[in-house]
Amino acid sequence: MNLTIAGTGYVGLVAGVCFAHVGHTVTCVDIDQKKVELLRSGVSPIYEENLEAFLKEGIASDLLHFTTDYRSAYASAEAIFIGVGTPEQSDGSANLKYVATVARQIAESVTHDCLVVVKSTVPVGTNDKVEQFIKDSLINDVCVEVASNPEFLAQGTAVHDMMHAARIIIGVESKNAESVLRSIYAPFNLPIVAVKRRSAEMSKYAANDFLALKISYMNDLANLCELVGADIEDVAKGMAYDERIGSRFLQAGIGYGGSCFPKDTKALEYLAKQHGYNLKTVGAAVAVNTSQRTVLFKKACNRMITFNGIKVAVLGLAFKAGTDDLRESPALYNIPLLLEQGADITAFDPVAEENCKKQFNFSMTYSPTVAETLQGAQICFIFTDWKEIKETAPEEFKRLMRTPLVYDGRNLFDPAAMKAAGVEYYSIGR
Ligand code: NAD
Repeated sequence: MNLTIAGTGYVGLVAGVCFAHVGHTVTCVDIDQKKVELLRSGVSPIYEENLEAFLKEGIASDLLHFTTDYRSAYASAEAIFIGVGTPEQSDGSANLKYVATVARQIAESVTHDCLVVVKSTVPVGTNDKVEQFIKDSLINDVCVEVASNPEFLAQGTAVHDMMHAARIIIGVESKNAESVLRSIYAPFNLPIVAVKRRSAEMSKYAANDFLALKISYMNDLANLCELVGADIEDVAKGMAYDERIGSRFLQAGIGYGGSCFPKDTKALEYLAKQHGYNLKTVGAAVAVNTSQRTVLFKKACNRMITFNGIKVAVLGLAFKAGTDDLRESPALYNIPLLLEQGADITAFDPVAEENCKKQFNFSMTYSPTVAETLQGAQICFIFTDWKEIKETAPEEFKRLMRTPLVYDGRNLFDPAAMKAAGVEYYSIGR
């Protein structure tokens, strides 16, 4: 089929390359000229495993194209997927201005009947508004329907998640919309759950916020474990055997980050409030996460007399391993606190270093290896679960650091092994 994708971020680009991979003809539109030029040359502006290989394959097979010219890209597409950002606003609500711009551009451009598919995460009822807005603004005499198709991929495993999704949720109000979406997804051979648009929109928040809740629950328990002498890792091990609970997302740590959980929890809380309802569970997940982000810093403040002039090793900047995305990363909440107190920071991240340099003007040094970062450090903070960090031998902390004092926000090491190696080691809930 002839598909167009609006937005070449984590969601739009991954959808574009995967649709081309299964044989659709895809045009990806972005307003960022530099990004489009980079993509045309086969280089991915974001890091995701296999993304660049799929990108090159799509370009070589002439099934995948990139443009800033939205008019020609939308004009005769059979389906247009909207994958632009819906960032958090200061009141917690989702900012729909990018979605609205694309809707207007579609209305001005389409010359054939088409299905508009909202992949961006949007508050319940947005699809109705997008459909009405497009219908009201159409220039040509064509029929445009809107369907919801929330995306469930996780950064770090985005291409794999798109190709092997647990399910595809489609929110449709007509047989035609359902049949177009079923045809698009047929080559993926994945379970399709067809529901009404509002239920599809809600499913995305329901799933993300449930995962956020699970993480915050474990972090809340982890803090209690420390007070009562239990080990959250052992507790989680025991819980994981229970099929009603499941074994994933039981990892205690320094809190969730990224572009989705923080904003999607707040957006659902906001939506509930708008309807006069207090969504207490999600509110609690947000509150726990906010304090969890700085739990290690607070612990370290109790141990250190000052950070002024202290050589600090920061291991990990990205919000999780496998991505170069820094959005809402716990590291970003801790680095300013340390700098404010005069810390002399050296930071390591295998892929997010460039993004950090570009986006933030932190007065700190970057280092290409864990060993170099630890060299001479007086305290170390671990913020991301990168393999390169996890695979560092406990003895290396002892050998390289001036004082082997480690605060681990990802529970990457066995406390007994760290102790045996002579490292003073603090982690979460143990
Ligand atoms: P992103 O910020 O990485 O990318 C958005 C892209 O849209 C940018 O490249 C931007 O230049 C482009 N854009 C903005 N206006 C445009 C326009 N008028 N026309 C064409 N392109 C335009 O965003 P993302 O992380 O891919 O997220 C997109 C949506 O998907 C959000 O609603 C998000 O909540 C949701 N989502 C994200 C993830 C994730 O892991 N990142 C997972 C599931 C769902």
